[in-house]
Amino acid sequence: MNGQIRHSQMLIDGQMVASESGEWLASDNPANEEIIGYSAAATAADVHKAVAAAERAQPAWAAMDPNARGKLVRQVAQALRARADEVLKLEVQDTGNTITKMKGDVEHAAHAMEFFAGLGTEIKGETIPASSENLHITVREPYGVVGRIVPFNHPIKFAAHAIAAPLMAGNSVVLKPPEQSPLSAEILGEICRDILPRGVVNIVTGNGMPTGDAIVRHPVIKRIAFTGSVPTGMAIQRAAAETGIKAITLELGGKNPLIAFPDMDPDKIAEVAVNAMNFAWSGQSCGSTSRLLVHESLHAAVLKRVVERVAELRLGDPLDPNSQMGPLNSRRHYERVCSMVQSGLNEGATLKHGGKRPLGKQFEKGYWLEPTVFSDVNSKMYIGREEIFGPVLSVFSWRDEAEALAIANSTEYGLTASIWTNDIKTALRMARNVKSGYVWINGASSHFYGTPFGGFKNSGLGREEGLEELLGYTETKSIHMKLA
Ligand code: NAP
Repeated sequence: MNGQIRHSQMLIDGQMVASESGEWLASDNPANEEIIGYSAAATAADVHKAVAAAERAQPAWAAMDPNARGKLVRQVAQALRARADEVLKLEVQDTGNTITKMKGDVEHAAHAMEFFAGLGTEIKGETIPASSENLHITVREPYGVVGRIVPFNHPIKFAAHAIAAPLMAGNSVVLKPPEQSPLSAEILGEICRDILPRGVVNIVTGNGMPTGDAIVRHPVIKRIAFTGSVPTGMAIQRAAAETGIKAITLELGGKNPLIAFPDMDPDKIAEVAVNAMNFAWSGQSCGSTSRLLVHESLHAAVLKRVVERVAELRLGDPLDPNSQMGPLNSRRHYERVCSMVQSGLNEGATLKHGGKRPLGKQFEKGYWLEPTVFSDVNSKMYIGREEIFGPVLSVFSWRDEAEALAIANSTEYGLTASIWTNDIKTALRMARNVKSGYVWINGASSHFYGTPFGGFKNSGLGREEGLEELLGYTETKSIHMKLA
């Protein structure tokens, strides 16, 4: 084991361990392709050990007073904050996301844990006057062992968030971080090992196959929550259905519209459109508004300003606080995004900026792609309807509200939408009619804990970031007590 290169172990049954097979997966820095660490490649046998440990630990955890559980979850959040600098440096090198914006991820991770830690006593039942001779009550009980699988774009933020609500509801957890950016999970593992009872949280690293699949198919796991792409979400639903009756929530991809009405200032729209693309993550954010739908009267002015702003973005070392955009996360993902850019060109969209590797010695290695803007995009084009999950913005033009709505609702996705107008009736009509689960009026990107986040259509199933998420980790039991 090289002292410089990290070998990230897994947390199983209260111990940091390598995989049973002894195999490791290399993780590179996407900015320069240098190997920065290895993560344990969990086999199905490792997953079975993790589930067995979680099953043993869960009854005592569920029996704890919810405020006592909340106290421990808060301690995990505090410990994460205490190691924020270490997490941040590692995470930036492992993902390619720029450091200035990534700082928010560690804080967000801790905040999510604290939010759920305070909600323990909200796991309430009801009394129901269903008959006069009985007392009818409901209680909420944990599922047992919850399987959670998270993607590569915000590894620590999603991993920490992923364990908070199931734990507060009295479940134990088996978590799988992303194979491309797995290294920070070891830090979360160490923190959980030091604070939580043994086996309550288990973290298994590895590929979707076999590690993720073994979690989904495990007969003891009856509740699965997945954040990732639509195809993987569908594969998980199939695999789960083959092995049992399982409750599944899915936070999936988006092809989100930002809709600008004619009463808006083109400069303002250009500014928010570039910000809401999340170029600091190379566009790799499920909520990025990757379709900019501009009224024809503003289209030329907005497009011009968007291209100017995008051209000004400073690409560079993600660890440099001055960098505004880094590389894509992995070679495989880079190649996918490049092929989608090519398909845009093949289908007749007009490339207004980017579309290629940036010039300069520092960009010769790594998964760099210039921030890219296409105009003349329509909903029939592949780039107009499929999630790219990269730094590629597609600009559409529309004539009337009906056309704007038709374009907005034309994809199989329905995660977020951002509506820009000062006409309150238009804004609310659009918000009601757009088929998206999370809608901003004169805003974009922000998440507000306490309000449910999740997608319509293929963008998902279930809601997170609020009470609904917490209650989603419980099952309702009805109890009838004869009074006479
Ligand atoms: P992905 O390819 O679907 O992978 C997500 C996770 O699933 C990874 O940990 C992956 O393992 C695992 N996985 C892959 N195949 C599996 C299988 N058959 N069974 C069980 N697990 C399996 O997604 P990604 O490329 O990492 O992330 C990008 C996607 O996530 C985008 O579509 C984005 O929009 C979406 N996303 C959605 C939200 C939201 O809140 N709605 C938030 C963030 C991201 P590996 O480690 O092998 O990849």
